[in-house]
Amino acid sequence: MAKTNEFKAESKRLLDMMINSIYTHKEIFLRELISNASDAIDKLYFKSLTDDSVGMSKGDFAIDLAVDKNARTITIKDNGIGMTEDELENNLGIIANSGSFKFKSENEKNEDVDIIGQFGVGFYSAFMVAKKVEVRSKAFGSDKAYSWVSEGVDGYTIDECDKADTGTEVILTLKDDAENENYSDFLDDYRIKELVKKYSDYVRFPIRMDVEKSRRKADAKEDDYSDEAYETYTENETLNSMVPLWRKNKNELKPEDYNNFYKEKFYDYNDPLKYIHSKVEGTAATYDALLYIPSQAPYNFYSREYEKGLQLYSSGVLIMDKCADLLPDYFSFVKGLVDSADLSLNISREMLQHDHQLKAIAKSIEKTIKSELSKMLKNHREDYEKLWKAFGIQIKFGVYDNYGRDKDAVEDLLLFTSSAEKKLVTLDEYVSRMKEDQKYIYYCAAETVEKAELLPQTELLRDKGYEILYLTDNVDEFAVKVLMRHGDKEFRSVSEGDLGLDTEEQKEETKKLTEDNKGMLDLIKEALDGKITEAKISDRLKTHPVCISNAGQISLEMEKILNQNPQNERVKSEKVLELNPGHKIFSVMQGLYDTDKEKFKDYAALLYDQALLIEGMPIEDPLAFSEKICKLMAE
Ligand code: ADP
Repeated sequence: MAKTNEFKAESKRLLDMMINSIYTHKEIFLRELISNASDAIDKLYFKSLTDDSVGMSKGDFAIDLAVDKNARTITIKDNGIGMTEDELENNLGIIANSGSFKFKSENEKNEDVDIIGQFGVGFYSAFMVAKKVEVRSKAFGSDKAYSWVSEGVDGYTIDECDKADTGTEVILTLKDDAENENYSDFLDDYRIKELVKKYSDYVRFPIRMDVEKSRRKADAKEDDYSDEAYETYTENETLNSMVPLWRKNKNELKPEDYNNFYKEKFYDYNDPLKYIHSKVEGTAATYDALLYIPSQAPYNFYSREYEKGLQLYSSGVLIMDKCADLLPDYFSFVKGLVDSADLSLNISREMLQHDHQLKAIAKSIEKTIKSELSKMLKNHREDYEKLWKAFGIQIKFGVYDNYGRDKDAVEDLLLFTSSAEKKLVTLDEYVSRMKEDQKYIYYCAAETVEKAELLPQTELLRDKGYEILYLTDNVDEFAVKVLMRHGDKEFRSVSEGDLGLDTEEQKEETKKLTEDNKGMLDLIKEALDGKITEAKISDRLKTHPVCISNAGQISLEMEKILNQNPQNERVKSEKVLELNPGHKIFSVMQGLYDTDKEKFKDYAALLYDQALLIEGMPIEDPLAFSEKICKLMAE
């Protein structure tokens, strides 16, 4: 009679956690046990390469699953290296090499549960679903077999047993069903198949199971479709596909293979715009990656629900479905997976975040994506513009996110609509086309390209043959402000500061005009009572009488955008009312300034309101505006 052995204290705690884990994570027990079986086979297989006494070749190795619905058992059997009595004691009696698992204090219990779900903790996960676990094992080279049995925290027993073949058999007796916890589910062929596909599809050895199937009886009558016409039979099926697509040689694979894999795995109806299959053997990281650029944004892409991330595998075994740390935010649209032998299956989420292997992989992946996108931009412009349409906003976020930390990484990937032919251009393209005397990269922020074209500020620039970038997405102007310049060329808003258009002579002239009309300009400012910081002579207008420019950092467009969000503090741009000295209205104002100050003030208010309307801003007092117009009309 064998004595009952106590579990070591920390194993006991882990076991306790397993037993009480939440239901949704329990399914990973199968993955853990299959991974152990596969590791054990690996060991014997490698031995067989140099040791003839093993007497097995690769095709002989397999993992066999069996379900007994009546006894409520699931058996996971391998013909791997097996365990001796000592090994059973040492490997299963304590948390063996799952050293990456860190114990947490009670108040962090929720996080523990998450670790279990995402990463598993090896053999003990069996206790999430089983009330009793039996491990029968015969080590390679031994003629005795032993059975390790445990019914939970109380301890375990080890006894000699009969077992003909080398290898290990883990027999789980499932817990009784309880409210919300239907363990019988795991006795279903279909469920087992699903779990193998989900987590263990790429285990290198076949995972087999007798699967119950139905077929028509040979002697069934042609028109008989009743139950009697059918019989059930069992078929031994291999459940996993074994060789992961990404491990195959690139020259064995066709574009359809990649595309079909993508559609099946990432639930998209459309082919991806691009796939990237990279095999990296570097000093910093060794991994295989399969990356996809979708051709359309998922419906929830620009919402909080969307979770970025790549699937993470450790030697073909899925350890995490969406590893966010593998993708920078500005490439969050990329789908795919990474497989690296350098990562431990039992690593915790917390440790993963600090794992330098993972960091090295993430860095290398970011570089790969960037260089592939640059190539696409250069050689497949049409595809790139499709990508831009779907994900451009996200890439632009990358410019100003984290206070511009990553702006250099994405600067060359940016596209903006240009006034020239209304086509998308890169910043390099813009700069290469700049006129000889052109000082700045001009941009105009507006709701749409059409509205930008109508703005008085863009007219003169276009007339001079300068290209203007039309910034029509909310993030655009913020991004440009963070960039400040491209190469040695500064960005300049068409509504901001000096556009650098004037010759010295023209500057002198403007200065003189300003001095001559100082009284009038001051009275306009006074009449507008704090709404503007200055009224001035404009050098950016051609046919329009007035426009609004801004003095500070916040533009009119930014004021509109920031104030759309009710949570933001209201902001106000510093507005400057600019007058076109060449326009007829200018001389009308000069005349009124000398003859009729009251009317002059009304006109000043009207000009300001018109400038607001042109900018697409609301006027503050529509009633007053209307009254003034009516007064004019009645004259
Ligand atoms: P890990 O797999 O991370 O080492 P586990 O708790 O899953 O942790 O397993 C502990 C140890 O038990 C393994 O390292 C291995 O030595 C041994 N073991 C588990 N399952 C098997 C098996 N099917 N065949 C042989 N050895 C096994």
